[in-house]
Amino acid sequence: MSLSTAVRVRFAPSPTGNLHVGGARTALFNWLYARRHGGVFVLRIEDTDAERSKDEYVKAILDGLRWLGIDWDEGPEKDGAFGPYFQTARMPLYKAAVDKLLDGKKLYHCFCTHDTLEAMRAEQLEKKLPVRYDGRCRALDHEEVTRRLRSGEKHVLRLRLSEGENVSWDDLNKGPLSFSSDLLDDLVVVKSDGFPTYNFAVVIDDVGMKITHVIRGEDHISNTPKQILLYRALGETIPQFAHIPMILGPDRSRLSKRHGATSVIDYKEMGFEPEAFRNYLALLGWSPEDNTQEILSREQMFAQFGIERVSSHGAIFNLDKLRWMNAEYIKKMSGETLLDRLTPWLEKIPGFPGTYDRQALCNIVSLFRERIQTFNEITAQAGWFFADPTEFDPKGLEKTGKVPDRAAMARAIGEKFADRNGLTGFSESDIETFLRGHAAATGKKAGDVIGLCRLALTGCTATPGLFELAALLGRDRCSARMMRFAGCFPD
Ligand code: GLU
Repeated sequence: MSLSTAVRVRFAPSPTGNLHVGGARTALFNWLYARRHGGVFVLRIEDTDAERSKDEYVKAILDGLRWLGIDWDEGPEKDGAFGPYFQTARMPLYKAAVDKLLDGKKLYHCFCTHDTLEAMRAEQLEKKLPVRYDGRCRALDHEEVTRRLRSGEKHVLRLRLSEGENVSWDDLNKGPLSFSSDLLDDLVVVKSDGFPTYNFAVVIDDVGMKITHVIRGEDHISNTPKQILLYRALGETIPQFAHIPMILGPDRSRLSKRHGATSVIDYKEMGFEPEAFRNYLALLGWSPEDNTQEILSREQMFAQFGIERVSSHGAIFNLDKLRWMNAEYIKKMSGETLLDRLTPWLEKIPGFPGTYDRQALCNIVSLFRERIQTFNEITAQAGWFFADPTEFDPKGLEKTGKVPDRAAMARAIGEKFADRNGLTGFSESDIETFLRGHAAATGKKAGDVIGLCRLALTGCTATPGLFELAALLGRDRCSARMMRFAGCFPD
């Protein structure tokens, strides 16, 4: 592939909010497409909306992308040959394009006021005509335009469309699409405040940045005919377009806050592994050839990603599926990585020590590897390891309450745990052998004895394996907790 035809794609967020799930998926598809084709992934910040754009959102978007491991080749903090990468820094480029179009008589000045446009609209509605700008300023002669400009009259610049022009393109996702220019306005390219409109800036930038493929949400389909007309007016090559379907909530309406968290960073805070989240996002609309394969590494995605395998229908965001996928990643993590991921959540546990033995913690967290789907769940589940239980699950109390001599049994086990001569070892298997033997010797069910110990040691009814956790707690803590339980709930 020669350099001139190398794939160049872009993600062009407006910094008016955090990186949301839909934006992240658009970024991801562009990134995967670039990596698949050995191309370039450009990040461009569309910050011309001065009122709504904020630096903090630029930061949030960059942080969100970095968290997902989506790296850009050109863009903020990574200057390339086609910058600047913030639209507000590209004003001279828009101005040059405007001058060129004005010279070629492709643009005209429109002095219609808001009231004039409103009246036009009302009349068209009344006459059941399509609502659009009727082009009345097209015919203003040069002298009048010059006079009105000199007097400082407010105006916009509009693109002069030809009647009956057909605009069609072969969308890489939707197939052939076609629009008639008769349904379009003479679109505004420069607003009365002197700023370029979105449609104009995006075209100038995509041309200037040599973008070959525009991969974006299908909510932009209605902008594409306008943009194509601008490419034509500029005499520039039109890129290929792929309008990918929206992400939907479980009720099949467009994913929004009422369905739950929509910002990528919320998922970080909920304890998702970025690779798992990215893997899940990739499958929101795309499927690899072997669609039984769901856990995909970055490299597997790079090798297989293609727009032709992106569905043309909306993809439903399913939190349960995402949680399942996160759990799959957790299962495969090394003990060290898992501990690193869990440490911020372990630190929230009351009684978590300021200094700790990493190996001991690794052993503890490995007990939970199969029991958590997101990292934050460890806070609620592992508390008993760091502090004696202060509360006991009422269901467990009710159940163990039915075991005759509960307190006496707890005391006997506590005493035996402390007895280094009687119970010489305190390994998992030592504990198991002792407890099963104790149940048999006292005529109790093993399940009842184990359930009682679980409740006394952890306060919970659902925990990792009792013998393992008791071995990790150690003889002294186990003994003390059994005795304390016996004291709290005398028969
Ligand atoms: N700034 C636009 C947006 O955030 C970009 C649209 C495009 O990709 O052309 O929706």
